[in-house]
Amino acid sequence: MPSSDAPGLTTLRSQLPSPVQEITDDRFTHRGIRLLLKRDDLIHPELTGNKWRKLAPNLTAAAGRPILTFGGAYSNHLRATAAAGRLLGLPTIGVVRGQELADGPLNPSLSRCAADGMRLHFTDRSTYRRKTEPETLAAILRAADAEDAYVVPEGGSNARAVHGCRSLGEELRGHADVAAVACGTGGTLAGLAAGLAPDQRALGIPVLKGGFLDADIRALQREAFGGPRGTWSLDDRFHCGGYARTTPELDAFADDFSDRHGLPVERLYVAKLLYALTTLTTEGAFRPGTTLAAAVTGRPLD
Ligand SMILES: *Cc1c(COP(=O)(O)O)cnc(C)c1O
Repeated sequence: MPSSDAPGLTTLRSQLPSPVQEITDDRFTHRGIRLLLKRDDLIHPELTGNKWRKLAPNLTAAAGRPILTFGGAYSNHLRATAAAGRLLGLPTIGVVRGQELADGPLNPSLSRCAADGMRLHFTDRSTYRRKTEPETLAAILRAADAEDAYVVPEGGSNARAVHGCRSLGEELRGHADVAAVACGTGGTLAGLAAGLAPDQRALGIPVLKGGFLDADIRALQREAFGGPRGTWSLDDRFHCGGYARTTPELDAFADDFSDRHGLPVERLYVAKLLYALTTLTTEGAFRPGTTLAAAVTGRPLD
């Protein structure tokens, strides 16, 4: 098989470009702002959102080798990788943070990974933290009996993934002035910004607290494109306490948004993004006449 051919990637029949949907919400229309939802959650029933865009080029590069990647106990990225493995008939290995998790019953997220055929390898937190150091990585691959594996970093963000997310920006050309996305590792924002037209800008809403995301995104763009691309900025005020943390206001906002618009709002990322855009609009952060596009990068676990 030629190495440019991932096994059956085209057989996944993904819905690309993903739909753009305008919604009517008086908190935006009163300010003269249009809000579009970029429905990446509809790309594929199991490989949703930015995870599809990030994984696809890596699956191609793996060329049939087993895929080994990393994540915490509730990682969307691990679940997406496991689903891809099942759909494409590729072996997958998930290196999970927390040796202690090996003893108890698997949580629903890890059970899904295992049911999809992902081999789970639990590792202690200090080893996990050093997983990008070459000797530590080599030791993990040995311990997981996966020395031939194609390694995808935590969160799936590498240069190939950033290239894959450029299509998100390209699909939004001519649609919006500001394209906004919730950020974990920042790989999606790095690609989105690179794909937009020069008169558009990207806005990232970090869901983790106090990271080094600015520097990480610059590094990812350097790795993927050789230097900075596009116009982007981050607004750090909407993490609500950190990853998977929430506040009563955020929960109420997400419930209300779901009711108003019939959109199941994914809580770890998408809720914080929509909450941020609503707050910024109320604060007058966007000039009247501005069109915003919110990337709906995932949907709630069922
Ligand atoms: C993983 C994920 C993100 C974050 O993507 P990064 O490229 O890591 O910033 C955003 N939204 C959803 C729903 C995700 O699962």
